[in-house]
Amino acid sequence: MHKIERKQRETTVAKHIFITGGVVSSLGKGITAASIGMLLKQRGLSVRLQKLDPYINVDPGTMSPFQHGEVYVTVDGAETDLDLGHYERFTGIYCSRDSNYTTGKIYNAVITKERRGDYLGATVQVIPHITNEIKDAIRSIASDDVDIAITEIGGTAGDIESLPFLEAIRQLYLEAGKGNALFIHLTLVPYIRAAGEMKTKPAQQSASILRSIGIQPDILICRCEHPMSEEHFRKLALYCNVERRAVVEEKDVQHSIYEVPLELHKQGLDNLVLDLLKVQARQPDLAAWSRMINAVTSAKKNVEIAVVGKYITLKDSYKSIYEAIDHAGFAHHTRVTVRRVDAEDVEKHGAAKLLAGIHGLLIPGGFGTRGIEGKLLAIEHARTRRIPYLGLCLGMQCAVIEFARNVCKLAGATSEEFDPKARHQVIALMLDQKSVTQMGGTMRLGQYPCVIRNHTLARALHRAACIFERHRHRYEFNNEYLKTFEKHGMAFSGMSPDGKLVEIIELPGHPFFIATQSHPEFQSQPTRPHPLFRGFIAAALKHKG
Ligand code: GLN
Repeated sequence: MHKIERKQRETTVAKHIFITGGVVSSLGKGITAASIGMLLKQRGLSVRLQKLDPYINVDPGTMSPFQHGEVYVTVDGAETDLDLGHYERFTGIYCSRDSNYTTGKIYNAVITKERRGDYLGATVQVIPHITNEIKDAIRSIASDDVDIAITEIGGTAGDIESLPFLEAIRQLYLEAGKGNALFIHLTLVPYIRAAGEMKTKPAQQSASILRSIGIQPDILICRCEHPMSEEHFRKLALYCNVERRAVVEEKDVQHSIYEVPLELHKQGLDNLVLDLLKVQARQPDLAAWSRMINAVTSAKKNVEIAVVGKYITLKDSYKSIYEAIDHAGFAHHTRVTVRRVDAEDVEKHGAAKLLAGIHGLLIPGGFGTRGIEGKLLAIEHARTRRIPYLGLCLGMQCAVIEFARNVCKLAGATSEEFDPKARHQVIALMLDQKSVTQMGGTMRLGQYPCVIRNHTLARALHRAACIFERHRHRYEFNNEYLKTFEKHGMAFSGMSPDGKLVEIIELPGHPFFIATQSHPEFQSQPTRPHPLFRGFIAAALKHKG
């Protein structure tokens, strides 16, 4: 990912785009925000993106993936909302700690200030203290080098808990002045089957909820399954009080979410945004993106990858992994089918049955004991049948445990996380984690360097001697066992620069067996798939033959 280099600023102050959602959740606000960010970046503007989440957790790090989907880790080690993953994948612009604020994080800051006496005796209130804190959070991404700061407000218009955020953007919009801020409202135009018609009323009502609190959308983006008629456009413009040209359709895409920016561009959304914000910029460079979409739509080859995990029923739980798999597929003009397998089902029904016919196995990160034995069975299946294996974080730790038990014959070997009294703790708590008592934000988080050994699969894939990857873990490979493992054929191909922490393992005798303590899925982009995923899909294609 690269920072945009600009000879001179396109704008004198950062301009704001605020994106709200209406009618229902899961409309794809994150993808829409990311698409707008991508189009503006491709027009040469300096863009930052940010998500404001109305829930009370300080960050999603302590939430179950079943509650909130994947926890996305930024380079600077923040545990954040998965929409930030879309922002980075679509724009290639790194997010940071400032890219995600929750109600909890805002209140935490205000209460800390209150206890410190910063408010000098004032009664601390939602308006102005909480709203001011929110405004500061928004301004934190609107630094001098930024042309356009895009802020997505989580939740749906009408939610009680998002009110302080909406009040804050109302105030900021007014302060920014005409032409310096935009409200974009993403809403739903559903098709009612019984009536055989698309209905605009829910969209009218969500726009009216916003108006009642002082927010008049400038642009209305309508999510729909079917194309809208001219009459729908006109009706929405009239009832929602926006210009006809400011009603934009965002129909479900056919093949991939990465088509969304191209569809929005076709309707002139980026031109409209720049016109309303009075910003001049060149036409967007969409050549590489369009090539990638062509690869997606014309893919002829097919492989099937099994992902064996604990949170398999909810697709959002391993969002970045599924995306990274897709990206690697794009690079090989291959459609990748993912077989999502519950690790506990492997325990019940056996790996041979559930993994029959797969061309690759991936085990993602995770926490806790549930499903571990199933993951170990799956890894043994892939190792002994020479099926390509990619292990991520817990997926590396499980590969180590499986190897310890079945190859090194260390009976009952496990991780300290699963059995702190076990004799062979081949995965153990990291030294600096031993004194940790708080749960939130205390893991080894964010980007760390990794030195890759020569003549290894890792080196061949990465084509670099030093890489940077993001992390989120408390446990590590127990170096007391290093020699034993090496003797039995495991290679430690990636280490922290001080040589103390195992980062990548592999099995040289196997066609493709590699696992990393990091989360490479967070670095993959549709036009630049991550080398490990790219190699994994290549190996799967080879395995398929
Ligand atoms: N539970 C393991 C640890 O804390 C793995 C974490 C992960 O997969 N993200 O080390």
